[in-house]
Amino acid sequence: MSVKLFIPGPIAVSEKTYKAMARPMIGHRSPDFVELYKSVQPGLQQMFGTKNPVYLSTSSAWGVMEGSVNNLCRKKVLNCMCGAFSDKWNDVSLRNGLEAEKLQVEWGKPIRPEALDQALSSGEFDVVTLVHNETSTGVMSPLPQLAEVLNKYPDVISVVDTVSSFSAVPMLKDDWGIDVIVTGSQKALALPPGLSLMTVSDRALNRADQMNNRGYYFDLIEFQKNHEKGMTPSTPNIPLIYALQEKVEEVLKEGLENRYKRHESLNAMVHEWVKSNGFNFFAEEGFRSKSLTCVANSRAIDLPALNKILKEEFKMVIDGGYGKIKGKSFRISNMGDENEQTMTELLNNLTAVLARIA
Ligand SMILES: *Cc1c(COP(=O)(O)O)cnc(C)c1O
Repeated sequence: MSVKLFIPGPIAVSEKTYKAMARPMIGHRSPDFVELYKSVQPGLQQMFGTKNPVYLSTSSAWGVMEGSVNNLCRKKVLNCMCGAFSDKWNDVSLRNGLEAEKLQVEWGKPIRPEALDQALSSGEFDVVTLVHNETSTGVMSPLPQLAEVLNKYPDVISVVDTVSSFSAVPMLKDDWGIDVIVTGSQKALALPPGLSLMTVSDRALNRADQMNNRGYYFDLIEFQKNHEKGMTPSTPNIPLIYALQEKVEEVLKEGLENRYKRHESLNAMVHEWVKSNGFNFFAEEGFRSKSLTCVANSRAIDLPALNKILKEEFKMVIDGGYGKIKGKSFRISNMGDENEQTMTELLNNLTAVLARIA
């Protein structure tokens, strides 16, 4: 029997999704592909809250995260940093030879609008990177309020990572006035890894158009030109696009509002478990993610021992903490297709294991 993943990505993939992936191959320049590509656009636009095109990139999210700063930064990028993924974006910017500055806050805290405003007021920056849901710390930064600040700076292009929040909480790209949103397949969408999605404003495309050295694989202008034909620049991972098509249909059938509510209530179940088992939260109150929970290991539980029993006896795994907070925290995902029954099962199993090791 296989082991079910409750780590915050990759997460469990349904039989329905695997079946969708097993459809016969088609040519990526064929009318069948154009039909497939076009079929996912309206649903994805609804999910992102945008009229902008949604590009499909055969890469994990880091591909388009790196590509977007490379395509858009002429002057200097401000990297808002509050955990492993957002911190890494600064490293990635520097490795691409960009001028980059840190807006660093302590792990467990969100990026606050006032801090962003203060940093941007120097006028040095033309790109900002933000991670909406910092998967390493379980912090969700207040995107609508941050977007309000960004709107005061029309020369600054915003690039937002929603890898672990997309489709789990409302996303209103156009209303909020965000330029670029990127996400990946293997987190909240519950698809296998290897595909990323990116939606880009006209303003950002215009900026990219004026830039030299955009590279090829992640060139936004290439994505746009091919998008106009219903295609991707190079041969995409077609099975994952089949899976995406099936998933988008499923999401719309569930209804976005119902999907958000489901995640909220499953997340609340995990929160209840955390409190009733005497743990603390790693993330500051008021800024806790709805798609995963980062638990402070305040009882100093032997996490490898916990996961070993959970895996061997109950065929499930959670995450034992990411990066520098490994062992000091653990993370429980409620993303994707989970429901009250599957989460109850996980939490009951966790309680049973804790009784044995603690
Ligand atoms: C997982 C994750 C990424 C990186 O995704 P890859 O698929 O490894 O490229 C980036 N940002 C966040 C917030 C993530 O959770």
